[in-house]
Amino acid sequence: MKKIALFPGSFDPFTNGHLDIVRRGAGLFDEVIIALGTNSSKQRYLPLDWMLAQLEALFQDEPRVSVRSYQGLTVEFARATGARYLLRGLRNTLDFEYENSIGQANRLLYPELETVALLTAPTLAAISSTIVRDIHRYGGDAAQFVPFALPPPKPA
Ligand code: ADP
Repeated sequence: MKKIALFPGSFDPFTNGHLDIVRRGAGLFDEVIIALGTNSSKQRYLPLDWMLAQLEALFQDEPRVSVRSYQGLTVEFARATGARYLLRGLRNTLDFEYENSIGQANRLLYPELETVALLTAPTLAAISSTIVRDIHRYGGDAAQFVPFALPPPKPA
């Protein structure tokens, strides 16, 4: 049976830290689906369609990686796609606490779904979407943290 892993997140924006997890996941699984979760109560910094287009272009030559967006519960999307693995990245103990509690809840909701968390590469551990957004918002150069060109920041 094909081993499909779902890599869910807001990816607002997707960063080089996320890219490392996808590449390493593609070495472990037959297929990695990057799943952009949409949450109507959370306003995105960069539009979802723009982020989807960047990711589709980035992975167009990587047949093991696909990009989707979804609404609702991650476990239900995993079920719908046939994913039996939930791929996550761990940077520090805060990530661990969060991933541990969400992973335990997901296990109750979908016991066959195995959460697989990869330890971040030390050089990428300091990168977060929040930091990239803050650098970008105030006109700083965030190019070294993301695998594509960001649009100009909106005037304040
Ligand atoms: P969420 O909305 O679930 O917080 P994110 O888009 O921030 O999603 O991140 C998705 C996943 O990628 C999470 O498992 C997060 O811990 C992981 N991640 C984020 N930044 C990095 C990084 N620099 N290195 C490795 N993993 C990361």
